[in-house]
Amino acid sequence: MAAAALLLRTHHHPCKPPPPPAARAPVLCRAAAGTSAGPASAAALRSLAPPTRPELLSLDLPRYDPSRARPVDLAVVGGGPAGLAVAQRVAEAGLSVCAVDPSPALVWPNNYGVWVDEFEAMGLSHCLDTVWPSASVFIDDGRFKSLDRPYARVARRKLKSTMMDRCVANGVVFHQAKVAKAVHYDASSILICDDGVSIPATIVLDATGFSRCLVQYDKPYNPGYQVAYGILAEVDGHPFDIDKMLFMDWRDSHLPEGSEIKERNRRIPTFLYAMPFSPTRIFLEETSLVARPGLAMDDIQERMAARLRHLGIRVRSVEEDERCVIPMGGPLPVLPQRVVGIGGTAGMVHPSTGYMVARTLATAPIVADAIVRFLDTGNGTAGLAGDALSAEVWKQLWPAKRRRQREFFCFGMDILLKLDLEGTRRFFDAFFDLEPHYWHGFLSSRLFLPELLMFGLALFGNASNTSRLEIMAKGTVPLGKMIGNLIQDRDG
Ligand SMILES: Cc1cc2nc3c(=O)[nH]c(=O)nc-3n(C[C@H](O)[C@H](O)[C@H](O)COP(=O)(O)OP(=O)(O)OC[C@H]3O[C@@H](n4cnc5c(N)ncnc54)[C@H](O)[C@@H]3O)c2cc1C
Repeated sequence: MAAAALLLRTHHHPCKPPPPPAARAPVLCRAAAGTSAGPASAAALRSLAPPTRPELLSLDLPRYDPSRARPVDLAVVGGGPAGLAVAQRVAEAGLSVCAVDPSPALVWPNNYGVWVDEFEAMGLSHCLDTVWPSASVFIDDGRFKSLDRPYARVARRKLKSTMMDRCVANGVVFHQAKVAKAVHYDASSILICDDGVSIPATIVLDATGFSRCLVQYDKPYNPGYQVAYGILAEVDGHPFDIDKMLFMDWRDSHLPEGSEIKERNRRIPTFLYAMPFSPTRIFLEETSLVARPGLAMDDIQERMAARLRHLGIRVRSVEEDERCVIPMGGPLPVLPQRVVGIGGTAGMVHPSTGYMVARTLATAPIVADAIVRFLDTGNGTAGLAGDALSAEVWKQLWPAKRRRQREFFCFGMDILLKLDLEGTRRFFDAFFDLEPHYWHGFLSSRLFLPELLMFGLALFGNASNTSRLEIMAKGTVPLGKMIGNLIQDRDG
């Protein structure tokens, strides 16, 4: 545990891969492990994971031609969902775009889950591969909630290839490398890649996820961490209804009374998240919602092995496994600054949930349109360049109302960080009893400050007396911090 916790605390160096692969990198594997033994222990569970085999899109990518060193309007660093969404939209508007990524054709490895209404609102329903009409939450052995809100797994290959096709059709060129740094002039910048290639651009977008390659932070980086271990498995059987995705299972009856592991789980609880695809195929993920420092991966795997044993889930083979470490909350990057950002690098992860994909995809058009609107394309329009251009784009990404919303979500995270298993159960018992408008809106970042205060009051009203006392006792310091930050953030 200590080793992984230490790794998670390691300070970030710009343009270096942040956490080590053992702790963070999601791994995509495609081979069957071919054993019928169930995971009797964390080691047995790990041994089922097949070797990594990256999946690539077969695409004929237009390449950036370094010999001509032609300046582009926009250089996008990072080809995750955030970077491609902006690249695609800016290119559609007729601007020249170069996207730089060490592996542009790699299918994103993460198993993304989203609420269906979030993808429907963006016209992306066709990029969902499995939809569950409802979701469920086990608070404990006695309390169960059915959430009447469809949930889905993102068809990551389809989403990526749809976005890549649109990028290619609109003239985005790709460069396969890692960006090492950016050098800025009054009205332009140059990206320097690790293969020695330089790419001149009017504006640079950092979309490198949690690597935070170019975007600068001036406050100590002190996020909470969501840590999870997930497997896509063939099993002999499982006890879950295949019409419901399992959003959270906080039961702890799989952990022996009086054991050390039960005590660890009491202090920093983990829950099971599961997507049952069929009676014998299921994605199972043991998750620590948020902790600081983050929970160690082997602790999570140990809890998962115990849970699967208790549930009678015998794993026949593991198709993929994913190790997930998501920094949550912490400070926003310096606002504004020369390099613009989006996605993980720009503080867009929901600080209380770890979710981000839907919000990033919904925000990409706002960022892209700001770049298109304010950039001087040299066609005689009164455009901007340099710091003035970047400032306008940052303003659109983090307007005052979004910054205030994030402060509230960070307040939520600070409370969650202090709750033990019982406190967490009481919290979610009250949370999922709220009007759907409130809990949907909170999870999907649709509520803004006045409504968030109503949300807070409604949650307080729904809570048991014990929970209210707990929220008052544990929430006072975070509340003070939030109010202080809101007052300090006077701009707008
Ligand atoms: C395992 C896992 C599961 C997740 N599941 C969910 C989920 O279910 N739902 C949800 O909403 N969110 C989820 N998240 C959180 C978040 O949505 C994802 O991390 C999402 O992929 C972030 O998108 P992004 O485009 O900002 O960054 P990324 O997807 O991380 O993409 C960044 C890209 O930048 C590239 N890059 C990095 N450094 C450089 C460099 N120096 N030069 C050039 N390129 C570089 C990387 O190779 C990568 O291709 C998950 C995160 C993880 C880690």
